[in-house]
Amino acid sequence: MKKCAKVWFFCNMTKYKGEKIKKVSPTIIYHLENQSYFHSSFVVFSVGYETLENFIYFCMSKNNKKMDSPFWQADIETMKESDLRKFQTEKLREAMSQASHAPFYKKLFKEKGISADTIQTCDDLSKLPFTMKDDLRSNYPYGMTAIPLQRCVRLHSSSGTTGNPTVVLHSQRDIDLWANQVARCMYMVGLRNTDVFQNTSGYGMFTGGLGFQYGAEKLGALTVPAAAGNSKRQIRFIMDFGTTALHIIPSYATRLAEVFHEMNIDPRTDTNLRVFCMGAEPHSEEQRRRVEQLLGVKAYNCFGMSEMNGPGVAFECTEQNGLHVWEDYVIPEIIDPDTLQPVPDGETGELVLTSLQREAMPLIRFRTHDLTRFLQGDCPCGRTHRRIDRLKGRSDDMIILKGVNIFPIQIETVLMSFKELGGEYLITLETVGNNDEMLIEVELSNLFTDDYSALEQLRKKIVRQLKDELLITPRLKLVSKGSLLVSEGKAVRVKDLRKY
Ligand code: ADP
Ligand code: ZN
Repeated sequence: MKKCAKVWFFCNMTKYKGEKIKKVSPTIIYHLENQSYFHSSFVVFSVGYETLENFIYFCMSKNNKKMDSPFWQADIETMKESDLRKFQTEKLREAMSQASHAPFYKKLFKEKGISADTIQTCDDLSKLPFTMKDDLRSNYPYGMTAIPLQRCVRLHSSSGTTGNPTVVLHSQRDIDLWANQVARCMYMVGLRNTDVFQNTSGYGMFTGGLGFQYGAEKLGALTVPAAAGNSKRQIRFIMDFGTTALHIIPSYATRLAEVFHEMNIDPRTDTNLRVFCMGAEPHSEEQRRRVEQLLGVKAYNCFGMSEMNGPGVAFECTEQNGLHVWEDYVIPEIIDPDTLQPVPDGETGELVLTSLQREAMPLIRFRTHDLTRFLQGDCPCGRTHRRIDRLKGRSDDMIILKGVNIFPIQIETVLMSFKELGGEYLITLETVGNNDEMLIEVELSNLFTDDYSALEQLRKKIVRQLKDELLITPRLKLVSKGSLLVSEGKAVRVKDLRKY
């Protein structure tokens, strides 16, 4: 009633700020009455719309829903665990019947004698076969598609970091659901329709571009599709448009901080930046803190992969303690990559994901090769969807040197704890004589000295810490700022030149 009264109040106005305004048609009144945003006359003044007509256009074209709840979809995000499992069982059965339309699954299910009826509870998931990245490669491009091509509206492909790229298809419904998934993530970290969101991802086949674009539009933010590269231009946009949030990959975030410094702009005081959605590649907690401190923002870890839509599969909440996996979209499992059995609770293993709502290309028990673990306990934010730990890397990223297993992220953790060092580093594995060795080259920060003995002391200190962490002694070279080649897109941290 209250809402109605407000609508009528505005509709009967003929002048606003001294300007004549048109009378509003009954259809528009109907729309206004049914929109939750129309809660205060204050909105009209604060959004600065000169006429009611312009305001109405704004209301109808942008998501202006009332945004004072901490949840985007409270009923789903805080669903009781037992309800969530029931929901997943139902969706899993649907996903199985949907998958059976794809040539690949049709054949596989027949061979294994399985169907949607194999699933009675969520535990029956373990009876289903895994899907491998190679299955997507060998069924390239359309062999995994479960709907006719004329119902597909978009094709994406992965970045091809570990081999030939794979292709993923989407129906209109898939795209809409994905946009909602990303909007939910952005909302969770405090972004609203009042934010100015700049996306520094490439907008090609890589899902970080359009994935975030549609999500941010669904949220109702003002989007700046800046795309990748050209740091000075990015910074100009940030300054001119009052950008409050960025989607950025971690290796680029430290680069951007340097360019701010070169341009004599302090991002902490001279910009409106406050939130970074940061992901697409592994990064350490130390790297995150460094980005936060250099740029004066809160940086939230976002995880995804093109096979499961793209960004938005799992995202940190404001607690910054693990990433909530959206369990209405996927079922996560963590398995031992050797035995293929679930690891004991809380142990690290390979993340396996089953899509629950995709219609163009459902994937059952997709082996991601990404390593993580489930975090125990409830999250104080109130969301019930399980949390995974910051990703440790892919199983294929693991370096085996002198019989020792090493993840690049362990090296990064040590390097980033030294404020004398910059953000770029390169690990080279090489054969010297009969031995395999590791050379780490790392940039110095802008601020550090060129006094030889101070540098040598620092170098020795870092090597000691690396040895404690890795159990082998790498060679370490401190190089001047800007001398390491920076890759466009995901950082390449390891060069393997060993002779086998
Ligand atoms: P590609 O597998 O060719 O890189 P994608 O662009 O689909 O293709 O990237 C998905 C992969 O990127 C994930 O499987 C994971 O290895 C990595 N990734 C994405 N987000 C994160 C993150 N927040 N932390 C660590 N790794 C990530
Ligand atoms: Zn949480």
